[in-house]
Amino acid sequence: MIEFKTEVVTTTILDPREGFARKEIDSEIRYDPLTGESRRLAHFGMIKPRKEDFSSWDTPENRSRCPFCPPNIERMTPRFPPEVLQDGHIRRGEATLLPNISPYDRFSALAVMGTRHVVPLEELSPSLLKDTFLAEMDFFRIIAAKSFGTPYNIVIWNYMPPSGGGIVHPHQQIIVSDSPGNLLRKSLENSRRYYQVHRQNYWRELCRAEKEKGQRFAGELERSCWLASFAPLGVLGEFLGIFPDVHTVSDVDGAVIDELVSGLERLFRYFSSANIYSFNMGLFFAPEGTEKYFSLHLRVIPRLFLNLEQKTSDVNSLLMVLQEPFAVVQPEKQCAELRSFW
Ligand SMILES: [Zn+2]
Repeated sequence: MIEFKTEVVTTTILDPREGFARKEIDSEIRYDPLTGESRRLAHFGMIKPRKEDFSSWDTPENRSRCPFCPPNIERMTPRFPPEVLQDGHIRRGEATLLPNISPYDRFSALAVMGTRHVVPLEELSPSLLKDTFLAEMDFFRIIAAKSFGTPYNIVIWNYMPPSGGGIVHPHQQIIVSDSPGNLLRKSLENSRRYYQVHRQNYWRELCRAEKEKGQRFAGELERSCWLASFAPLGVLGEFLGIFPDVHTVSDVDGAVIDELVSGLERLFRYFSSANIYSFNMGLFFAPEGTEKYFSLHLRVIPRLFLNLEQKTSDVNSLLMVLQEPFAVVQPEKQCAELRSFW
């Protein structure tokens, strides 16, 4: 029932590298199976990520300017007013959740991930990830209990500068809103439509279909399946972690968080092996009342500087002007590599 639609586009050039002989070059247009939106796949193998060494940023001077480094976090970061959070912030193990000093929604929070200014991917420990997600779940539950009329719960994460992260000290962002943003709105609308037509939850069906096909199915854990996205949003692809039978914030217990961390750990080990050191992440919860057709899921989109000399951005006119995500990787090839980390 889920359609994985692809068009191969062939173009002909006279290639100077081969004495101006005729050469055919293929690119692909893929359509997102949920929304029908198109993506380009081209330039295969042309961009090789290179690892950058961040240890040089971890200096006393940089730490003294960072609002999240101790002792600055106590005096430079804001607190919530008591009607939102009695204690002003949430502490869970190594994580501290506080309001964003530059909010972009009514409830716009940050979860500061520990006291270390620079944490390389290999050192993002399971306990640090777990503390962070647990603090965020506390926040979602507290806000939900106060009935502010904000049904959408989202976690986003810009990890390292290529992802657009302004502060290198690791922190996730938490949004509780009545405005879901374009991607979540489209996902919800199309998931509802899919359910109306097929009487099935799209996310469960996607896991089933991808497991059956095998090409983009990295592996599964007790409640979740992990995939390379058929029609990726990023230059180096996109990865999905889907919990088909977990929906709203109130469905999420410690076991779900453990599994989320465990899936991410596997993904991060693959990233390290592939020289991927920066990403955007989105964790989307089902709003109340959408449980039949929407499931908890995670998107992780690798980001990179196209070259380290000019720090060329991997976002260009294709995405900004044409709103057309562009990938230089074959999700099926990536997934074959990722699978060995499962
Ligand atoms: Zn810091």
